[in-house]
Amino acid sequence: MALDLDLLIVGAGPAGISTAVEARRAGIERLMLLEKGPSHSWSIEKLYTPGKRVDKVYLGQEVDCDGAVCIIDGTRETALATLDAFVAQYDLPIQYATEVERIDTLEGGGFRVRDTRGDEFLTRTIVIAIGVFGRPNKPDYPLPGSLKGHVHFDLNHGIPAGESVLIIGGGNTALEYAAYLYADHPTTLAYRGHEFAKANEVNRQILSDLDSGGKLGVWLGADVAGLRDTSTAPRVEVTFKDGRVEAFDHVLYGIGGSTPEGFLKAAGVMIDGKSPVVDERFHTTVPGLYLAGDLVAGGKGSIVKAFNTGHRVVWEGLCQDHLECRIPEGFPGARRSSE
Ligand SMILES: Cc1cc2nc3c(=O)[nH]c(=O)nc-3n(C[C@H](O)[C@H](O)[C@H](O)COP(=O)(O)OP(=O)(O)OC[C@H]3O[C@@H](n4cnc5c(N)ncnc54)[C@H](O)[C@@H]3O)c2cc1C
Repeated sequence: MALDLDLLIVGAGPAGISTAVEARRAGIERLMLLEKGPSHSWSIEKLYTPGKRVDKVYLGQEVDCDGAVCIIDGTRETALATLDAFVAQYDLPIQYATEVERIDTLEGGGFRVRDTRGDEFLTRTIVIAIGVFGRPNKPDYPLPGSLKGHVHFDLNHGIPAGESVLIIGGGNTALEYAAYLYADHPTTLAYRGHEFAKANEVNRQILSDLDSGGKLGVWLGADVAGLRDTSTAPRVEVTFKDGRVEAFDHVLYGIGGSTPEGFLKAAGVMIDGKSPVVDERFHTTVPGLYLAGDLVAGGKGSIVKAFNTGHRVVWEGLCQDHLECRIPEGFPGARRSSE
């Protein structure tokens, strides 16, 4: 059977874009990216607050860029502009607003992939680079359906200025939400822990300054038991496990995301505990199927780490074992299959 593509990349975030750029540099022409968002790097667009500082050294991880794709310290907007420029420079073919529905392994090698728009792709190899933010964690208590528009898992739909917000969580996402929202909203941050050990030093300092300046409320040891619709403003009544009850116009959860295990399992990827099983080149146990980015970052991802996984997948994985690459003489980090 003739295969349409040499490489199908699922997810056009930092890892997917880096994989595609390195593939282009290796002479892999027949490639396609499928992205579920309306634009590339959708997790960054969606989860980073406007103007957010973006650090190349993130969570203390001093990692240099191994390949062609890199960023410098800047903001959400400069990072997105840099990624835009790579997409344009390498003319990356991205299909937006679509998700992979099914991946079947073909006898004799390769895959048949169907997306949610009903398109079908036959491809020799696949790199899954869907990150871990696709599915935000939800609390384990029920959320009243009538509170739609008042309960949020990101800032996609905006929260009207002046309306009160309870942010729930204690990691960087929750702290960055607080730093973004406090200026226009009466803001409270509730965290069940007793210190913000999961957040970085800069975010902790910003929060501490806002807290001591009386700019927002910070409640530690505040574990939420449930939400109720009051049917009148403020709509969301929050009951805490210590018996405290308070009402807010909005509740915003920043309690992390989980590996999209279902997606990986459906693609045949083996999962050990919470982590997908891959070798040092991020090849799964399915021949020709690789993972990249946060999926293989062991719970501590960064943009540069995501770039580097794409570089390694292409030069040490795909070009060695699956595809014919044009490897420049003396190319750093790349071994020819004949060597
Ligand atoms: C609030 C916050 C702040 C951060 N700040 C920094 C920072 O300052 N510096 C830093 O280095 N890192 C930072 N990070 C971490 C960094 O954003 C990630 O490590 C990086 O984005 C991982 O890249 P990725 O390509 O693996 O995944 P993602 O960026 O999550 O990209 C995955 C892409 O795949 C798409 N996708 C998901 N599911 C599907 C599907 N089923 N089909 C098709 N497409 C799909 C998504 O829409 C997205 O475009 C931060 C993270 C958060 C949450």
